[in-house]
Amino acid sequence: MAGTVSQTLVVLERKKLIVKKSDPKDRRNVQLELTPAGRLLLDDDPIMAVRNNATALGETNEVALLAGLKRLLHVTLEERGGRAFGVCHSCKYFLQAAEGGAIHRCALLDAPLSDEDSEQICVENVFG
Ligand code: SF4
Repeated sequence: MAGTVSQTLVVLERKKLIVKKSDPKDRRNVQLELTPAGRLLLDDDPIMAVRNNATALGETNEVALLAGLKRLLHVTLEERGGRAFGVCHSCKYFLQAAEGGAIHRCALLDAPLSDEDSEQICVENVFG
């Protein structure tokens, strides 16, 4: 998991969405800051609108919504026989790209998958 976070940070930095700054108090620490471009992108993220709307519901409704979502997750997991939703690359239908190749494949959906896709959660996931 640490590798995945590190890789994500490298990509965000390469896209100039974050900057890394060393911590003057402890050189082992790195501070991450959003760049103006990163802030713009985050402000435009649809999930932020969902979060803001959830917050606007007020605490009572927010707690009820959270309880409802947890219940929905439990019911869905029960229906799946307790199988968790896994990331794509752990699925038995995931076909790794050939050496040097960038495009993986989903054998179930007969669809191409990028490296980024392979890190996503999929409701169809069947652990291989
Ligand atoms: S079924 Fe879903 S998790 Fe499995 S390989 Fe296809 S896209 Fe990935």
